[in-house]
This record gives sequence, C-alpha cells and structure tokens, in this order.
Amino acid sequence: MNLHFKPVLLALRHPFRLATGMRTHTNAVLTEIHHNGQVGFGEAAMPPYYGENHDTATAFLARARDVLQHVRTETLDLETISRIMAEIDAIAPGNNAAKASVDIALHDLWGKQTGQPLWRMRGADAANMPATTFTLGIDTPEVLREKLKEGDAFNIIKVKLGAEDDRSIIRTLREVTDKPIYADANQGWHDREAALDLIFWLQEQGVQLIEQPVPKDHLDDAAWLTARSPLPIIADESFQRLSDLPRVADCFHGVNVKLMKCTGVHEGFRAIQQARERGLKLMIGCMTETSCGIYAASALAPLCDFADLDGCWLISNNPFEMPMLENGRIQLNERSGLGVELKVEKLKGLKVEGVES
Ligand code: MG
Repeated sequence: MNLHFKPVLLALRHPFRLATGMRTHTNAVLTEIHHNGQVGFGEAAMPPYYGENHDTATAFLARARDVLQHVRTETLDLETISRIMAEIDAIAPGNNAAKASVDIALHDLWGKQTGQPLWRMRGADAANMPATTFTLGIDTPEVLREKLKEGDAFNIIKVKLGAEDDRSIIRTLREVTDKPIYADANQGWHDREAALDLIFWLQEQGVQLIEQPVPKDHLDDAAWLTARSPLPIIADESFQRLSDLPRVADCFHGVNVKLMKCTGVHEGFRAIQQARERGLKLMIGCMTETSCGIYAASALAPLCDFADLDGCWLISNNPFEMPMLENGRIQLNERSGLGVELKVEKLKGLKVEGVES
C-alpha cells in the first residue's frame, strides 16, 4: 500500500472567533492510499489547540508510509484495518488527526474494494440520520444575522458561547430565528453556579444541549452541572479518545465523538458502541474540514443522537464534492467507500503554506 499526503490550508469563509482566539485558516493534510489500482481518500484537519500542524503531521505520515508499505494483503477487512491502525497508533503518542487521515483512507479503500458504502458496512441505517447543525462564531448582531442566512438549509443552529455576554448573543439570534440551538461554551465558563443559572435561562430560549461548559480537566464541576442541568451536558474537549471514556462517563450526559480526536472511524465506532453501553448520549462532531472528513463522520452519524457536521460548509476551498442536504440532514449515498469524489481542478488551486501549488 502506498500512502501519499499533501499539506493544505483550508480557508474559512468567515474568520471564526472562539473563547480561545480568532482563526482565518486551518491546517489540513489530504491523504491517499493507493492499492491494486484503487485509491482511498483521507484527511487530517488540525485546529491549533490540539497541538498538530503541517510539520507534525507530515513527519508522522512519513513514518506511517513505511508501515503501510509493508502491509501484505490483497483486500482489506475489519480485522486487517484494526491491525494496521494498532501499528499506526504505536508509531508515536498523539498525532490523532494524522492517524485519522490514514484510518479514513483505509475505510474508503475497504468500501471501494467491496463495492459497499461505508455507512452500511458499519451498520448504520440512513433513515436514522440526525439533523446537523450550522455553527455560528461569536460576532456582532449584524454579522450574525448575515451568517444565519448562509445556514438557511440547516434546521439547527450551533452557537459558540463563553464570551462576555452570552445572553445578548442568544437574544440576537432569537430576534432572527426560532430554530433550535445547541450551545458550545468551549470550556469558557468558570463559575459553576453562574453556569447553571445560565443553562436554565438558555433552556427557556430554546437551547437544546450544552457542549463543554467548563475547562476540560474540571470534571468535578462538569459532574456537578450534569447532576443539576435541565439540558444534556456533552463532553467535547474532555473526551478525545476511547481511553478517556471511563474517566468522563459519570461526569457528563454524553460525549462528542470526532474522528480527528479519536484517530478515525475504527476507534470512533468503538467509542460510540461503548458510550451507548454506558447509557451516554452521543454527538458526532467535526473540525473545520473538507467533505472527505465529513462524509467519513456521516457514515457513523445515524448511530448518534446529535450531529454537528457542518465543517465543509464553513470553508471556501473544499476540494471534494459537497454532501447533499435534505431537511437539514446529510444524505448518505450508495457509492462505495466514503461516497466522496475529489475535484482535481480544485485540489490544484489549494494553497500550501500560503503558496499556490
Ligand atoms: Mg465543541
């Protein structure tokens, strides 16, 4: 198996303001695994706060390429993918998005070899696809209103809170939409009593869930809120890999599984299964990423309660075909593998470290 990879910069349609700072681009690496005349596509999308970037990912993927070169198998199956990913995982700790880019390409290849869509191979029922959210950053009322128009095809709004005046953001949204809202505090709330008051108020405003209210290691505060909150409290930054599950399971109502955190589809699927066994609610989320990563996550989305898979709608230079939306839900297709097609002419125009490639 031959692994190829290309670092790219994904351009955000709008600079994105979070509790942690402002972003205009995101680092990503596009991967391809070539094997017996077929190609599997993958992607690593790397927001700055998890410590991965073009340098770490390309260094890691150069080592992953050596591992894949020695794989002696004609066709993939679950057991082989599991064995390969264990080897990839053992190369170095961390590098979760880089690992996911290998995992996603392997899953695409596996589907293409067997002629089946990945979602079906992972036991998902397309009829159970949850509606996905459209995310709004923290902004002025005028900009929020403008952005909201771009998310017209989505039926749920996700908003980033954790700013100075969260109530005014919600009031502004409520002036222009009555769509349900998911609120993501991105670890921005530091006083649990004030957070609980706010959550009760948010419930009255039609907010339906709260993501990562408190700093990721403040599990006591998370558990305190979870015991009292009228809305589901979902772990995002507190939950990255499957191995985090026992530590966070009793502190939240649910977890947000993201392929870029948990090294891809293989571990993501196991995380979903094990979280379910513990009675947890499940959200499937994404980074700012191309539709390659979004299609991969969509394959598991029908196994989850909530979907936040709008990453490819937030960038202006997605080199892959966009997913179809119907009634605010991503439509799974019957193509084999991920079901995503690369637009080669767009790939050529993608910037790498600020230089046209
Ligand atoms: Mg989040």
